[in-house]
Amino acid sequence: MKAIALFSGGLDSTLAMKLIIDQGIEVIACNINTGFGSTKDRLAHMKNMCEQVGAEFRSVDIRDEYIKEVLFSPKYGYGKNFNPCIDCHAKMFEVAKRKMEEWGASFLISGEVLGQRPMSQNRESLDKVLNLSNCDGLLLRPMCAQSLEPTTPELEGWVDRDKLENIVGRNRDRQMELAELFGLKDYEAPGGGCLLTDEKFSNKIRDFIAHDTFTVEDIPTLKYGRQLRLPEGAKLIIGRNAEDNDILEAIQNKKFIHITTELFGPHCLLSANANDNDKVLAAKLMLAYCKQDFEGEQTLMFGDVGLTTVSDLSRHDAQKYFI
Ligand code: SF4
Repeated sequence: MKAIALFSGGLDSTLAMKLIIDQGIEVIACNINTGFGSTKDRLAHMKNMCEQVGAEFRSVDIRDEYIKEVLFSPKYGYGKNFNPCIDCHAKMFEVAKRKMEEWGASFLISGEVLGQRPMSQNRESLDKVLNLSNCDGLLLRPMCAQSLEPTTPELEGWVDRDKLENIVGRNRDRQMELAELFGLKDYEAPGGGCLLTDEKFSNKIRDFIAHDTFTVEDIPTLKYGRQLRLPEGAKLIIGRNAEDNDILEAIQNKKFIHITTELFGPHCLLSANANDNDKVLAAKLMLAYCKQDFEGEQTLMFGDVGLTTVSDLSRHDAQKYFI
């Protein structure tokens, strides 16, 4: 008997897997990559948690499908920011369900706890997720199973319902107790949860879609660097540090051109369709962020084309363009 767990790296989904593994069932921890979650740190953390409970870790990339079918048209709307949590959960279960046959699994599990999150984990939301994902009966939530209707794995006797949990609400005492009981270590997930719940990141998406069509390749252009919208419509991205600069430099996206300089300074991206006024402004702003002293005119390269200008703007001047 095998189950697929929706796995985010959090304590609840780890405990849910352990409860099922302890009933002699093989569990594949399925992390769904929407493009707005995992950082490198999180990946290492997820693998560590899986090792501790004996689950196999797999990641499934749904970025394209997520953008096309969920992000901009959620049936149940958004949470506080750009987070379409109910539709997102449903999509994740739908994807996991699709994997069942390929991976030889008989049911799905998740770490959801009834009432833990007012918006996305109340009874009504859990039901909506079930309906939307068409997983009815096959989706078992071990952490609060005893408070929910019995599912197929319980009714069929694949799992013992009495050994599942009855956790309801926001209190985490029982989770802590179980973590201790199972001897879990380092279970605090490193920062950087879902970016869609972040207000600033949500504003960046809103700004992007007000000017352009958003596709998978555009995700990194929102994640790194200072983000500016210039007066005549172009978007400028200015690397903040060496890591940003390296990542921005590696981006190949037809919507953007690279701006480079011989000076010690940031790597920048500018909308490929920027007009001349925005290009000159971008050059001046980029020079404002150079860390090297210089005098007089400077030539910056916009792709293969040079643009020469003086630096007469400051970082303070850049502020009004920040998204
Ligand atoms: S927080 Fe993000 S990843 Fe989690 S359900 Fe909401 S939108 Fe999806």
